[in-house]
Amino acid sequence: LGKRLTSAVSNLTHSNVVDEKAFDAMIKEICSALIESDVNVKLVANLRKSIKSAVNLKELGPGVNRKRLIQKTVFDELVKLVDPHNEPFKPKKGRTNVIMFVGLQGSGKTTSCTKLARYYQARGFKACLVCADTFRAGAFDQLKQNATKAKIPYYGSYTETDPVKVSRDGVEKFKKERFDIIIVDTSGRHQQEKELFAEMMQIQQAVKPDQTIMVLDASIGQAAEAQSKAFKESADFGAIIITKTDGHAAGGGAISAVAATRTPIVFIGTGEHMLDFERFAPQPFISKLLGMGDLGGLVEHVQSLKLDQKDTMKHIQEGIFTVRDLRDQLGNIMKMGPLSKMAGMIPGLSQMMGEVGDEEGTMKLKRMIYIMDSMTEKELDSDAKCFVDQPTRMTRVARGSGTSVREVEDVLTQHRMMAQMAKKVGKNMANLQKGGGLA
Ligand code: GDP
Ligand code: MG
Repeated sequence: LGKRLTSAVSNLTHSNVVDEKAFDAMIKEICSALIESDVNVKLVANLRKSIKSAVNLKELGPGVNRKRLIQKTVFDELVKLVDPHNEPFKPKKGRTNVIMFVGLQGSGKTTSCTKLARYYQARGFKACLVCADTFRAGAFDQLKQNATKAKIPYYGSYTETDPVKVSRDGVEKFKKERFDIIIVDTSGRHQQEKELFAEMMQIQQAVKPDQTIMVLDASIGQAAEAQSKAFKESADFGAIIITKTDGHAAGGGAISAVAATRTPIVFIGTGEHMLDFERFAPQPFISKLLGMGDLGGLVEHVQSLKLDQKDTMKHIQEGIFTVRDLRDQLGNIMKMGPLSKMAGMIPGLSQMMGEVGDEEGTMKLKRMIYIMDSMTEKELDSDAKCFVDQPTRMTRVARGSGTSVREVEDVLTQHRMMAQMAKKVGKNMANLQKGGGLA
């Protein structure tokens, strides 16, 4: 999806005149790219209408930048598709919040359960896991292993075969122990089967979850709409987690699932590691889909300022982005100001900084740099995987920089996002050098 959408939008960028014909051709290309990547046909037809009515080329004055306007409209309409305007459930401290996971086998439930428990644990919630997957041999061992690694209390059974009993027992035990968040991992099947749905409904009745989350593999494609509707009918869920967004999947399925069920995506899985987990935000998601993250714009601007960028540029061309590269970039940004404008050019950074003034933003940026200054040379020149493998490194860095583990995590999230962009940009540059198009 990204590929064709990007080229549809950038073809327009490269053509000099934007007349009705060029505009129609672009819309056509975008729509067929969307359909090809499994976005529901009706949705695409609506999108087409809204783009057309939002941009009326004939009525635009000569001063209007048509390309910009069209790009922005396409972007906004796609954002609308993944934004259900429906607030997801927020767990409250001081009471027990039960969260239940549903989804097909292999979609990433067990992995995402642990990621979510760890996410809340890092934010001061007392979180734990219950394994109600008695269907698949080895399911409990897998959860146990994940939970142990992340130091999260867990409950399960090797002998009890009734998932309803296991989940009820587990939730009761942890409720008594006053956990804030109890996450129940359930089993899946390869296909949607009657038994699976019956089992889900029974578990739901037994544990009365405050939130049910459906886990969806990003590569689900065409089946996304039917699958999410089927789950919605029996185990009504209030949130979606999309996994494996780091893979080659087009992502059209995710859009269809949200639209079909009017349910918000809350997190996305971006890899197999515990920390490869991000809060979902519509705009960066679509940005990535379109390959429109403004890293290119940033690099251009930085070049024009003649800051020392050689290493980072070279790295990006090779698809590499080290922690040190992030440190250098942020350092440069501080020199360039005004911060609010610059932060907007780095994908995700403005979200992370929130709606803050330049002074507060500068403070946040400084803290990020302090954090990286507390890292070893080796860590700085690494791809940051060492922090995932040895989380105690984060504690050390937080202590050394007088910040919190959460802030260190934020820096690493920022780094990961930029490393992903660099990979993409690097690939594109390599392709261009070979004479090919954009990847
Ligand atoms: P479950 O059957 O729904 O519980 O799925 P699992 O949690 O066991 O995950 C199935 C496979 O997908 C495992 O190999 C996971 O490591 C992998 N996986 C889960 N989430 C992600 C993700 O976000 N990215 C990648 N690359 N792999 C993932
Ligand atoms: Mg599982």
